[in-house]
Amino acid sequence: MTPIAFLDLKAQQARIGTGLRARLEAVLAHCQFVLGPEVAALEQRLAEYCGAAECVSVSSGTDALQIAMMAERIGPGDAVFLPAFTYTATAEVPLLLGATPVFVDVDPRSFQIDCVSLRHRIEAVRRAGRLRPAAIVGVDLFGQPAPWVELRGIAQAEAMFLLDDCAQSFGASLDGRKLGREADATAISFFPSKPLGGYGDGGALLTDDPARAKLYRSLRTHGEGETRYEVLRIGMNGRLDTLQAAILLAKLDVFDEELARREAIAQAYDAGLADRLAIPVRVRDSSSAWAVYSVLLPDAAARTATQEALRAAGVPSAIYYPRPLHHQPAYRDQHDGTALPVSEDLATRILALPIHPDLTDDEVARVIAAVPG
Ligand SMILES: *Cc1c(COP(=O)(O)O)cnc(C)c1O
Repeated sequence: MTPIAFLDLKAQQARIGTGLRARLEAVLAHCQFVLGPEVAALEQRLAEYCGAAECVSVSSGTDALQIAMMAERIGPGDAVFLPAFTYTATAEVPLLLGATPVFVDVDPRSFQIDCVSLRHRIEAVRRAGRLRPAAIVGVDLFGQPAPWVELRGIAQAEAMFLLDDCAQSFGASLDGRKLGREADATAISFFPSKPLGGYGDGGALLTDDPARAKLYRSLRTHGEGETRYEVLRIGMNGRLDTLQAAILLAKLDVFDEELARREAIAQAYDAGLADRLAIPVRVRDSSSAWAVYSVLLPDAAARTATQEALRAAGVPSAIYYPRPLHHQPAYRDQHDGTALPVSEDLATRILALPIHPDLTDDEVARVIAAVPG
């Protein structure tokens, strides 16, 4: 039995091949490899796609987060609130800037940041009086939106910067509008495994604020001013390559079809698996970009058994995330010891099944059949 791929970029390449090659040839012909015309074209299309006023492409999702926080001058003495159940990049960036990540628990059903836990954590930081509550990073985990209405309310009441880490979820929508305008700024990633993945690293920032966009453009090119050798601030080398932009333009042509295919696969999994395990709970009034389809097993032993049964049937699976960030060696010293029980529990029994647009109906049926009863 041929093994099923967790992500099948070869199949996708065959599907988009003609358009892709034409776009790459155009770049090879004009040779503007840095900030060439495809970069501006991509930024315009991404902004239009989600209705944001501005899009600034950058070198990765992590750099998008970093540039957004640098623009707010987040640094030593600042507390940045973020979920403990996310990828390390979310927490790494505030630390790199000298700020302190404060880990927040997540909701046991949606896996998104828990606003009750968030309020408690902000209150604790205020009481301790050592750090200034500076920013909240809402993560749209696995393709679904974070609770943006509540997050905006908290950020406004506390006068904090609100950043959307949308690395996994570009293409998803909430209340009928695409993510990209829920926070003061939105960071997206084009890492190959993300819903809108490129063929390497890349990312972008979306915002409705032209002043922020101008800062982002300066920061991604060494803090430059109106002219190239005017250095206004410390920035970074954080641009997206023209070749990568050309690839992403070709991928955008099929992006909505791919999102529809992911949704159809998720529905087939829901229907086929709901009698055997806990299927993902949909966030209300939203559509998912289905970066990840994660189910919950009763406990760690059941998860191991399921993974083994799947492996025997040629079905790959993955664990996002096997450890919450506050238990990782790199962050343990940052954490005040508060228990974050939901994040700790999810890590022991969550399991992701393959979901990518080139999975065939037969393969979807094979995945469902391979899950033990
Ligand atoms: C992938 C990811 C990032 C980082 O994106 P890169 O493009 O890989 O730097 C940040 N946050 C989350 C939640 C991610 O999943």
